[in-house]
Amino acid sequence: MSEGKCIILSAPSGAGKTTLVKHLLAEDLKLSFSISASTRKPRGKEKHGVDYYFLSPEEFKQKVEEGHFVEWEEVYTDHCYGTLKSEVDRIWADEKHLIFDVDVVGGLNLKKYFGDKALAIFVMPPDMASLESRLRSRGTDSEDRILQRLEKAKTELITADQFDHIILNDDLEKAKKEVKNVVKAFLAQ
Ligand code: ADP
Ligand code: 5GP
Repeated sequence: MSEGKCIILSAPSGAGKTTLVKHLLAEDLKLSFSISASTRKPRGKEKHGVDYYFLSPEEFKQKVEEGHFVEWEEVYTDHCYGTLKSEVDRIWADEKHLIFDVDVVGGLNLKKYFGDKALAIFVMPPDMASLESRLRSRGTDSEDRILQRLEKAKTELITADQFDHIILNDDLEKAKKEVKNVVKAFLAQ
């Protein structure tokens, strides 16, 4: 495989995309996680080069200016995230398909960039109350950040129909089965 395919999972924060990405990575689908660059600080046990390439704002800006990103965005105030071209090359050289965990704007930009090579999936939370309780029970964000994420979710939910496929993540086991079936069918095409 000189160039593989791309699986994009996007959703408002807390909808469950990271959970579903981890599930897909554990399956035998030849997927490799696209590690994004970010200017935010590592949380908990996160490691540079595993969860993100953690860059300073200056390093990030320089890579933007030098054209190293496929897409990048200030997802939250002062927190930039982006996909490096070198990451796409690394994974395809390793004969794997890329899997992305990105916000909805990034997801739609990646779909535009990769076209038919990409399957863009929107992970839909059952409702705003569930989204809020998932963000709180995850326990990774300050109150301030939770409120920012919920506010952003309202505009993100209305982009769902621009994606190739919507997965309702109410029952996690059902969502895991559905996402695996959809991805498997796309990779087999
Ligand atoms: P995202 O990556 O979209 O921000 P996560 O995958 O981190 O979301 O999920 C947010 C939280 O919700 C996590 O604590 C996760 O374990 C939990 N979660 C995911 N899916 C479900 C579900 N179907 N029902 C209940 N909790 C869920
Ligand atoms: P977190 O800080 O919770 O890890 O991520 C915040 C948001 O940024 C999530 O919605 C995540 O999917 C998104 N994100 C992560 N990497 C990228 C990326 O490379 N590009 C874009 N546009 N968003 C990203």
